[in-house]
Amino acid sequence: MKKVQVLSVDFHTHPLADRYYCSFTSPRVPTERDAEDIAEFLVAAAERGIDAVAVTDHDCVASGWFAKRVAERCKLPILVIPGVELTTVVGGWRVHLLAYNLKEDLPPCTLTPREAVGEVHVRGGVAVLAHPGRNGLLTPFILSMCLRAGLDGIETRNWMNGDFDVSPWLNGASEWCGRFVLQTAGSDWHWKGASLFSPGGFSVEVPVEWLVEKGLATPEEVERALSRRAERQKKLQKARRAPRHL
Ligand SMILES: [Zn+2]
Ligand SMILES: [Zn+2]
Repeated sequence: MKKVQVLSVDFHTHPLADRYYCSFTSPRVPTERDAEDIAEFLVAAAERGIDAVAVTDHDCVASGWFAKRVAERCKLPILVIPGVELTTVVGGWRVHLLAYNLKEDLPPCTLTPREAVGEVHVRGGVAVLAHPGRNGLLTPFILSMCLRAGLDGIETRNWMNGDFDVSPWLNGASEWCGRFVLQTAGSDWHWKGASLFSPGGFSVEVPVEWLVEKGLATPEEVERALSRRAERQKKLQKARRAPRHL
């Protein structure tokens, strides 16, 4: 049987701590300081064994693409997935939806989660419901409306908001009505000045086919990430075998 190849991905981070938060105002022009902060964050995540990290500031796609450019320009050993955390509303309640690969912002606080899933797909993006447990009593309603709209994933582990039991919705094969729905994990990590606390400490191993099929990584990007991963694992094995006495 062919071994499934996986990459560990942190699907939810705010490395610029929403310095780009815009809500209809133009995002400001990235500075050298932004590039340094992003690079430091990405290197720290790579050092913790993360293969890919999604950058998902609130309602603003700019920092995700900026992070991807920085990673490519500086040849950082990590794959960046550009994303955004959309603020949607239903019954006056704010619901966060993670979207990946969106080129333009969607207006915050105007779409329902179901509408947002549709808009994300129309624009070629991928939609994942963020920390569903935070939606309290509305959770079953929100989750089922998003699943019906074609939701691609559910964030079942979130460092800031805890775990979410998805078993009432998905079967053992992570299927909803015969369709695979990815269970994701995210650190929801926010930049706190100069202090880095376990960025990328929360990740999930994702089959590379899923990433390519959803357009979150090109086959070439996957190849590079897999060889970095193999290299790292080789080094770790060597370190494990090394004699421990002096
Ligand atoms: Zn959130
Ligand atoms: Zn967040």
